[in-house]
Amino acid sequence: MSFFNFSINKILTRDLSILDQARIRLLYFGFLLAIVGVGALFLSIYLQGLHVMTLTAGGVLIAITALFKYLTFKPHWRTISHLLLVIGTMVNLATVFVILQDVNIITVQVIILVIVFSFYMLGQNWGMFYSLLNLLPVLIFMVMKYDHNYFMDFKPERADESTTIIAVFANFILIIFIHSHFYTAFLKNMKQLKDTGEEQAALNIKFEKAIEKAEKSSQVQSEFLSTMSHEIRTPLNAVIGMSNLLLMNSPRPDQSENLDILKFSANNLLAIVNDVLDFNKIESGKIVFEKIKFNLADLMQNICGGQIIKAEEKGLLFKLDIDSALQRKLVFGDPTRLTQIIFNLVSNAIKFTAEGNIWVRVTCLEDRHNNITVGFSVKDTGIGIKKNNLENIFEPFTQESITTTRQYGGTGLGLAIVKRLLELQGLQMHVSSKINHGSEFSFNMEFPVSTELAATKNSGTSVSEVRSQPAYTQPVLQQFMSMEAENPGSGLRILIAEDNPVNVMLMKKLFSKWSIVPTIAENGERAVEIMQYGNFDIILMDLQMPVMNGFDASIEIRKMTDPAKANIPIIALTASALFDIRDQVTSAGMNDYVAKPFKPDELMEKIQNLVATV
Ligand code: ADP
Repeated sequence: MSFFNFSINKILTRDLSILDQARIRLLYFGFLLAIVGVGALFLSIYLQGLHVMTLTAGGVLIAITALFKYLTFKPHWRTISHLLLVIGTMVNLATVFVILQDVNIITVQVIILVIVFSFYMLGQNWGMFYSLLNLLPVLIFMVMKYDHNYFMDFKPERADESTTIIAVFANFILIIFIHSHFYTAFLKNMKQLKDTGEEQAALNIKFEKAIEKAEKSSQVQSEFLSTMSHEIRTPLNAVIGMSNLLLMNSPRPDQSENLDILKFSANNLLAIVNDVLDFNKIESGKIVFEKIKFNLADLMQNICGGQIIKAEEKGLLFKLDIDSALQRKLVFGDPTRLTQIIFNLVSNAIKFTAEGNIWVRVTCLEDRHNNITVGFSVKDTGIGIKKNNLENIFEPFTQESITTTRQYGGTGLGLAIVKRLLELQGLQMHVSSKINHGSEFSFNMEFPVSTELAATKNSGTSVSEVRSQPAYTQPVLQQFMSMEAENPGSGLRILIAEDNPVNVMLMKKLFSKWSIVPTIAENGERAVEIMQYGNFDIILMDLQMPVMNGFDASIEIRKMTDPAKANIPIIALTASALFDIRDQVTSAGMNDYVAKPFKPDELMEKIQNLVATV
């Protein structure tokens, strides 16, 4: 049925451009006009008994009818235009050279038609080609005829005036039709362009507004997290500190057990808060990698030191292999971030392994002059990961399954942080895993090497020697104990600016272990006042305080006329983990900072270093 469907709507589809739609419409209506015109011509010359002309007109009539059918069947306008132009050219040249052996007004019209049609339908190059193909032979013919050089063994046919009138009319109508049609299409195209431009502009405005909103909301989110960081970490700091102090005061066994649980939970909560904050920090691009000199072997032992106890508690064998080539090398890099990466991988390995072993390997893969490439690998014999989950476990807040959450806890942020930390350094994590057999996480990292050598230690990396723990997981209690024994800073005159009474109590208790009685200022303004009449060795300055914050107070103190006071060492105490605080602290004139909840020995070390250098 569809073969007899000649409707133009069948071939005009929406996905065609305005220009192509115009081309198809032009062919469609042009064919109809041409069929009528050529039909009339055919009849007229047939009645005059002009055989060759009749045959030619008949042929053309059949050809254009067939092409019309082709068009309504498949709108291949390009092919149809070529076919039409080839037929047109042949008829034109045959008429001039053979049938009429003359050039008349109809020839001129046909050439104009060819020029207009070929340019509009097929563009510049083909337009030029068909125009010259029709024009040049005709011009040559005219010159030859003028010189009486043209001879053809065929008696030309002459049609009467009525035929000429029909042809001239039909041709003019076609020329006007083509022009008017394309002019309309051109206008439509312009309008569409203008509309699209306006739409685009409106979309751009919407887009910009959306970006602005998103940026604002991400900033608000960042700020919110920063505030929350302070608000959550401050009481947590107190909870952890207090449970440590209570544990030190010889509690009954039942109390001691409860305190352990309390401390464990608080530390857990702190780890989660830290993860969320860290992730936020990484995502908002606020992370800057340090280039500090350190020994990789020492760092690895420190990281794994705490983990081995956990592994042993679960009955797992923990192997740490460090390439001997790394033992005495000092490299430049960011030990904190590397610790974070390895720590997360090792924690997961222990968490997801019920029996067998954990194997941590650090291999020197390449040692060029002053650069080494180190391969890190953490392998376990745990539950393994399904093949199609190997990618999504790196997505934030994603765990392998809901059972994982129930059985093992966690936030699903660890691997996301690890992956981002590596990506930010242009590195990639590789995972291979087999369900119920275990997993291996590995990556390579390059380090510039220092020309210095690390001090020789009792080398050999037997696991049992590993004692210290990664800085940010070190149980505060152990540190308290060791500090207590040494009593390192007795006699120091310390001013503490701190508004939170729980923190004040904690600090007092902490310093009492070292026989130090600190002076307390409840805000920055009080600290400045106290400094004016008192003499101190060092100030510990909380940053967020009412009335006057720690930054402003430090600036005021640095302005004091007495050089001993103006140059007093100041250590900032901050609970904010979000922003890189170092720059802000330095530009306010403070010497150093300690993040809460701080490790007592780290604080004491900083105090002693600063007091000694003054
Ligand atoms: P979390 O440990 O808080 O669940 P991670 O981002 O560290 O979050 O890990 C995401 C998920 O990847 C885990 O919940 C676990 O399903 C899977 N996974 C990570 N490490 C291992 C491992 N060593 N063995 C088995 N599964 C693992």
